[in-house]
Amino acid sequence: MSLHPDVEKVLVTGQQLQDRVNELGRRISDDYAGKDLLVIGVLKGAAWFVADLTRAITIPFNVDFMAVSSYGAAHKSSGVVRIIKDLDAPVAGRHVLIAEDILDTGLTLRYLIKNFEVRGAASVEVAACVIKAGAQQENIPVRYDGFVIPNEFVVGYGLDYAENYRGLPYIGQLKQSVYS
Ligand code: 5GP
Repeated sequence: MSLHPDVEKVLVTGQQLQDRVNELGRRISDDYAGKDLLVIGVLKGAAWFVADLTRAITIPFNVDFMAVSSYGAAHKSSGVVRIIKDLDAPVAGRHVLIAEDILDTGLTLRYLIKNFEVRGAASVEVAACVIKAGAQQENIPVRYDGFVIPNEFVVGYGLDYAENYRGLPYIGQLKQSVYS
């Protein structure tokens, strides 16, 4: 597949994503066997990751989505987390696995972990498709980690810039000229 003209370079290929996500799905299936697993995707970006991850999980589970905003149309984290859409499912007593597209500052995940703990989840773990090296302001324990990438603004596999590029099958670094 040819590179999108706004993408500087590919950091994680589609094949690497599929292989790693399948592996995470196998591990999750082992770890949560016999448990009431609720996979919670963070909209919109994690929808692509959740779709692939859940197809690789071989045990019974439920899935729900939550929408939060931390970025708006800009490319820097605001640090402010706002719930746009809450869960449909109750979390009390259930084993929650948060699926996030990307771990950047960690502010979003810090907020969500605390939120689900307060709601009485039996456990809360994190699956993050990509982790930006050296960007975390919060120490987030990521049990299921996909890829560590450089601290650059990336798009694709659900990740957007101003709602574009989500459908790219790879994760790529956006050209700086696009957002500056
Ligand atoms: P954090 O709270 O960890 O700083 O940011 C989490 C959210 O910020 C992600 O779910 C994602 O929506 C957005 N984000 C952080 N870094 C990037 C990036 O490089 N590209 C895109 N498209 N979104 C990002």
